[in-house]
Amino acid sequence: MYHFTAFLIKYAEIGVKGRNRYLFEDALVHQIKFALKSCDGRFYIHKTQGRIYVDAQSDFDYEEVVGRLQQVFGISGICPVAYEEDEGFEKLCEKVIGYLAEVYPDRHMTFKVVARRARKDYPLDSNQINADLGEAILNAYPEMKVDVHHPDVFLNIEVREKIYIYSQVIPGPGGMPVGTGGKGMLLLSGGIDSPVAGYMIAKRGVKIDAVYFHAPPYTSERAKQKVVDLARILSRYCGPVYLHVINFTDIQLYIYEKCPHEELTIIMRRYMMRIAEHIAKETECLGLITGESLGQVASQTMASLVSTNEVCTLPVYRPLIGFDKQEIVEVSQKIGAFETSILPYEDCCTIFVAKHPVTKPNAKIIRRHEQNLEEKIDELVRTALETKELIVVE
Ligand code: ATP
Ligand code: MG
Repeated sequence: MYHFTAFLIKYAEIGVKGRNRYLFEDALVHQIKFALKSCDGRFYIHKTQGRIYVDAQSDFDYEEVVGRLQQVFGISGICPVAYEEDEGFEKLCEKVIGYLAEVYPDRHMTFKVVARRARKDYPLDSNQINADLGEAILNAYPEMKVDVHHPDVFLNIEVREKIYIYSQVIPGPGGMPVGTGGKGMLLLSGGIDSPVAGYMIAKRGVKIDAVYFHAPPYTSERAKQKVVDLARILSRYCGPVYLHVINFTDIQLYIYEKCPHEELTIIMRRYMMRIAEHIAKETECLGLITGESLGQVASQTMASLVSTNEVCTLPVYRPLIGFDKQEIVEVSQKIGAFETSILPYEDCCTIFVAKHPVTKPNAKIIRRHEQNLEEKIDELVRTALETKELIVVE
């Protein structure tokens, strides 16, 4: 393995101009720092001439660091960089030839040298470096060929204090740095869908807080721990997650007692949305996020969504709305949540679920049945909010 000492971070999003550019870059630096906190080694992350570098200041585990950087939204590419001392051009040629031998065991490829001279006292200008270094490479490796238009490899040589050599671009996750897009409240259950929904919104730069409704003793401590574990998986992508845990038992039991059972799911979901919105507003979240996908279950028909939307004033983001289950599962696996999501612990919604839930709730009827809940439900909601538990997950 070649000894890389730094990473050049590439980012690409349209609209990153002017003041936005600073916000974007600062948020990106912030998120990179957060991501690398969990890695062995010391790192210096800095912006230099419109670029972001991660300099390793100690030994580090290359795979671990690349893996973490691949979880930082906003990064489009990660270039491992070798910093070499300037010991003259001949030595540089030797170093580059050694670099190519290690980084590209099979050198049947086309290349182009792209030299940049940030330091004008270097004896060769960039065109000379391109030409002379190209020639030295061709002499050393006759199997390599120059292609100035569409090379397989751009071999970048930057003459600064030290000389930077880099040519590989490892894909990043894309998206926008978390923190550039406001904050949203994710309704996080222990299922497959909601963690994926949170991931997708975070990818657009949104910071995520989460709320989980549990129903002890009908749902266990393990079911709650599973949600904490899912929040931790999400936090790798979007920084610390503030997880609000709401005890939903009394509300659920009361609805169960007072409402027709086929309307249970929808009425329960309306109370979840109301409570989530309440916490969202207190914590300056600008929207709610759920893992709903159209037609997946009875409570996810268009008519049901009308009914759950009706009780909130904040926008409800449903990034999975047009996804098939299989597509959701693929993302879940990609982000490392699937194994946790499929652990078989009970979910508070499944326990009280009716055999034939309504799929086309009638707004008037639902509202009337909610009126039967009278003031007592408001009291239960208040208590649920007052006894809310906050878990900071990172
Ligand atoms: P998931 O796989 O995310 O659990 P689901 O397919 O089980 O979703 P529902 O049970 O209808 O679907 O839930 C729809 C959405 O409502 C979930 O994606 C989640 O955002 C939210 N939700 C459901 N149950 C809870 C809960 N106990 N706590 C917090 N949010 C929940
Ligand atoms: Mg679920």
